[in-house]
Formats: sequence, structure tokens, C-alpha cells
Amino acid sequence: MLKTEAIAKHFGGLEVLSDVNLSVGAGEIVGLLGPNGSGKTTLLNILSGFLRPSGGRIHYGGRDIGGMAPEAIARLGIRRTFQLPRMPEKMSCAELLLTAVEQPAGARLLAWPGRARAEARDARKRAFEMLEHLELTRVAHQPASGISGGQQKLLALGAAILGGARLLLLDEPTAGVNPTLRLRLVETLQDIRRQGVTLVVVEHDMGFIGRLCDRCVVLDRGVLIADCKPEHLMENERVVEAYLGKRE
Ligand code: ADP
Repeated sequence: MLKTEAIAKHFGGLEVLSDVNLSVGAGEIVGLLGPNGSGKTTLLNILSGFLRPSGGRIHYGGRDIGGMAPEAIARLGIRRTFQLPRMPEKMSCAELLLTAVEQPAGARLLAWPGRARAEARDARKRAFEMLEHLELTRVAHQPASGISGGQQKLLALGAAILGGARLLLLDEPTAGVNPTLRLRLVETLQDIRRQGVTLVVVEHDMGFIGRLCDRCVVLDRGVLIADCKPEHLMENERVVEAYLGKRE
């Protein structure tokens, strides 16, 4: 579904990613790991169009998307969430999800009134089901910018799912989310995988990774050093060294 070929990125003289070859199959959940500063967020920014790679190619569903704008990439179904979500000031949580619900292109223009009403009802139903699923019903009518950081992450995830994500790129989805909601998050992500969504997840919580991911790739100083099942991660010497900081 997604394949990168020799992705490189430098900021001035600083080489942040080099020769990154990553493949993600349809329906997979892939964990993206690595010590702080290893290039994980930079890679997500490149895959979602927020940064241009300095070199290499990105193929998604048979197209070369390297250098496409974030909006164009989002329209292809690649959606991402951020470590620190940015919420609109004046929208309630319910409104935010309602506006996120995917509309087929031109649907509003072509719809006759009865159909538009039925679509609006359906959108409302989907938005409120999502709020319930994420345990956000209680804050449905509060401003999205006023709920807790952990709740904002869940809301951003809900918006990405309702927006028609086919490939979801999640940047540290559990940071700031309490343990009970973390379990709910694992269930939600497994659920959406069953609906055919593919996931790439930047994460530090090994328990979460073990429960969720089919496969892990590990970045160290901008280089992919491992690609294995979560249960084999700590058998890999390079991974252990990257985390413990032991260098030859
Ligand atoms: P991670 O997500 O693995 O913690 P990042 O991708 O955020 O790592 O950062 C990798 C490296 O790139 C870090 O050394 C960081 O300082 C550097 N970096 C990230 N963005 C920029 C930027 N816009 N300008 C200069 N350096 C950057």
C-alpha cells in the first residue's frame, strides 16, 4: 500500500533521515519506534506531505506522492494525528466530528433536499457514535480546545477516522492518555483495522505496541535498523544498543 524508496532528509547540514526504505501492506498495523531525535516525526511529516524529502520516492496505491501537498495527500486517504493536537477555538467536540464526516465529492451540490436531510442525520449518528466509543459523550458540547490533552488526541483520531482515512499515521497516540482510555484506544484501533484501515503508529509504550502492532520498524539516527515482530524486538542487538546508548 505504501512504499518508500531511499527517503533522505536534511535540515541544512544535519542529516535527519538517510536511505529509509519502508513498506506497509494494506491492513497492517506497523509500529514506528526509535529513541528521541531518531527521525520518527520527520518521517511522518514527509509521508503526510508536511515536509518535502531531500531525496527518494514515496509510492502510495501505485502513485508517486512525494512532494504532493498535505491536502492532496489527505484526499487520497492518508490522514495523520499530531503529538500535540491543534483544536479550532470555536467548535464543540460534536461539531468538529460532524464537519469531519466524509462527504463524497460534490454530494452537497447534487443532493435533493430529502437526501441532504438523510445524509445530515447519518452524519450526526456517526459523529455521536464515535463520541460514545471514545467516551467523549459527556464533553460533546464543550469547546474542543477546552478538553484535556488526552481527550483532544482521541477526538483528533475520531475526526481522522470519520474523514475517511485509509492509512492513518499516528504520532504518539497514548502520550497523555490515561490507562483505561489506552485500552479503549487499542480496541478502537483494532476495530478500525477490521474496517480495512492501515496504521503506522509512533509509540514508546511497549505494552501498547505488543498488543497492537503486527510489525515494528526501528529508526536510529535517521537509519532504519530493524524490521521485525514486536516480540523479537529486544533480541535485536542494534535495537538494544540504540535504546541503551551503547556505541562501538
Ligand atoms: P523523533 O520524532 O524521533 O523524536 P524528529 O523527527 O522530531 O525525531 O527529529 C529528528 C532530528 O531532526 C532531531 O535532531 C531534530 O532536532 C531535527 N529536526 C526536526 N525538525 C527540524 C527542523 N525543522 N529544522 C531543523 N532540525 C530539525
